[in-house]
Amino acid sequence: DMTVAGFDPALADAIDRERQRQEAHIELIASENYASPRVLELQGSVLTNKYAEGYPGKRYYGGCEFVDMAENLAIERAKALFGADYANVQPHSGSSANLAVFMALANPGDTLMGLSLDHGGHLTHGAKPNFSGKIYNAVQYGIDPDKGEMDYDAIEALAHEHRPKIIVAGFSAYSRVVDWARFRAIADAVGAWLVADMAHIAGLVAAGVYPSPVPHADVVTTTTHKSLRGPRGGLILARENPDVTKKLQSLIFPGTQGGPLMHAIAAKAVAFLEAQDPGFRTYQQQVIANARAMAETVIERGYKVVSGGTDNHLLLMDLVDKGITGKAADAALEDAHITVNKNTVPNDPQSPFVTSGLRIGTPAITTRGFGEVESRQLAGWICDVLDDIDNTAVRDRVRDQVTEICARFPVYEALQSRI
Ligand code: PLP
Repeated sequence: DMTVAGFDPALADAIDRERQRQEAHIELIASENYASPRVLELQGSVLTNKYAEGYPGKRYYGGCEFVDMAENLAIERAKALFGADYANVQPHSGSSANLAVFMALANPGDTLMGLSLDHGGHLTHGAKPNFSGKIYNAVQYGIDPDKGEMDYDAIEALAHEHRPKIIVAGFSAYSRVVDWARFRAIADAVGAWLVADMAHIAGLVAAGVYPSPVPHADVVTTTTHKSLRGPRGGLILARENPDVTKKLQSLIFPGTQGGPLMHAIAAKAVAFLEAQDPGFRTYQQQVIANARAMAETVIERGYKVVSGGTDNHLLLMDLVDKGITGKAADAALEDAHITVNKNTVPNDPQSPFVTSGLRIGTPAITTRGFGEVESRQLAGWICDVLDDIDNTAVRDRVRDQVTEICARFPVYEALQSRI
């Protein structure tokens, strides 16, 4: 039996249940999305069989003429989509993209400055347990705890104090527009490379609804699977600078990776084409409108939102004054089939495992067709659960409402026609 179901029923059962979970639960994890059927198809294609170490036209293996076509399409589309002179589509993930870029621009022991994890940065921006915090002398900046926004004067002062080799601008949990030009000026003032990690907002940037870091940063890294809605993977972009791009090429291969995942690269290529469709811009506008609608609703219901709102695809609920932990809120909502993640808030009194906040993102619900009406309804249900966090009857009622709305907005059935 060549089917997974016939050959490996236990595994098939896990996949089936995950498929049902994705259809029947509301997904609010800000870094997740539903990839299109085309992206899924390519990730299961015969391209997974091919070894293609090297780059198009310069491979270490024979038989690469057709995977070269796929990789060239991905490169040209990435450059066109983001207005970049250079693209490397081989990084296996966002973390591997950052690893290669840092190794291209700095030596071990050099100073790297990034947003700290507990203020919304990513592990790879200099966190202690990560390679970025081990290999480099990591200096971490934070956000202004009162305003909930980046404090550029403080970042500038820190840069002058530590003279970093690399400044990383970018985030995993920040709801406002980043002033890329200000980061550029700070980097120039101290002679640092500016690396922008736009992993969370790449889809918004591609659609032109969030400012692009590409004209400002020396190098831009991203994942392709978050708001950009492609396959899991990474991407490096840069402006023309032969010294830099030569190093980026060699630090992905052979520096930090072996054979590229050609099936994932093909899926990136089709995702970049999907992102050129006018419908993709409408989608990204709706992602932001939905995040704003949710932020407004929870604020009306008496909840605090870090920075008081959002300009992008996510909002951060601050539950400190409610005496609810992020961990408890996350668990109660999960019980109502609403998936969010606990998140630290500025000056969080709780540990990173417990936290006092929730990160809520709208890329996935918007892909399944939710508009502002549904987003407001959903935000209301979240408040209902949190208002009375030990009340299982409320959770039961919300779970029924979630089941009903998910049935009205099926994911993959609807995606066939919409994407
Ligand atoms: N950079 C940022 C800003 C992210 O949010 C993430 C993912 O969460 C990454 C990099 C890492 O991506 P990956 O999980 O593909 O390694």
